[in-house]
Amino acid sequence: MTSPYIRKENQSESDDIVWHNTTVSLQERMQLKQQKPAVLWFTGLSGSGKSTIANAVESKLLSLGKHSYLLDGDNVRHGLNKDLGFSDTDRIENIRRIGEVAKLFVDSGTIVLTAFISPFASDRDHARKLLGHDQFLEVFIDTPLAVCEQRDPKGLYKKARAGHIKNFTGIDSSYEAPTNPEIHVKTANSTVEECAEFVVKNLIDMGYLSLEEARHAL
Ligand code: ADP
Repeated sequence: MTSPYIRKENQSESDDIVWHNTTVSLQERMQLKQQKPAVLWFTGLSGSGKSTIANAVESKLLSLGKHSYLLDGDNVRHGLNKDLGFSDTDRIENIRRIGEVAKLFVDSGTIVLTAFISPFASDRDHARKLLGHDQFLEVFIDTPLAVCEQRDPKGLYKKARAGHIKNFTGIDSSYEAPTNPEIHVKTANSTVEECAEFVVKNLIDMGYLSLEEARHAL
């Protein structure tokens, strides 16, 4: 699908804009912060638990002295992406911008958590390519639609079923589940705490946190 936003960007692209290498390197920032930066890219249906679990994971990272930042879907739509709606085109642009912002945060040495539905596999793959494999960790918050609809923390499913919200993921807009996520969290029969611990354990297994550090958070 072509995006009007991408086209606009390309039109204004100039040969005179050259990437400027900064004096302070990512390696030096990592050394200062004593951490390995990456994006934990939470994806899942509305109400699946992305924000709740991402917040719980971020609290654990804080207690480990890790510098993190959570980019939350609704918050970003209040500012940076407030010009975007929920058509397929706007959703693609929403995720493209998040990917770019996340990349800058990672370059600052920060562990980034993003909590967006990000329903299309191609957009998530785009973000993965942008960041590179060792800096992009897909975290699939896997919750059946029926459970999300029962939770309905913001009353959005009720509104969507009543026809008051169009293009609602899972109802009249598709969700393409990850096929090979780095971290696969099944929430239906677990507590928030168990889900957050599971994410931290996976970060240890993949070498993003050391067991010694993580002992405090588990
Ligand atoms: P999302 O960010 O995916 O739209 P939210 O985190 O806003 O979802 O809402 C998920 C809701 O489900 C919250 O009200 C949360 O308390 C509840 N919930 C119940 N069990 C879990 C669980 N195991 N993991 C995450 N959320 C859970």
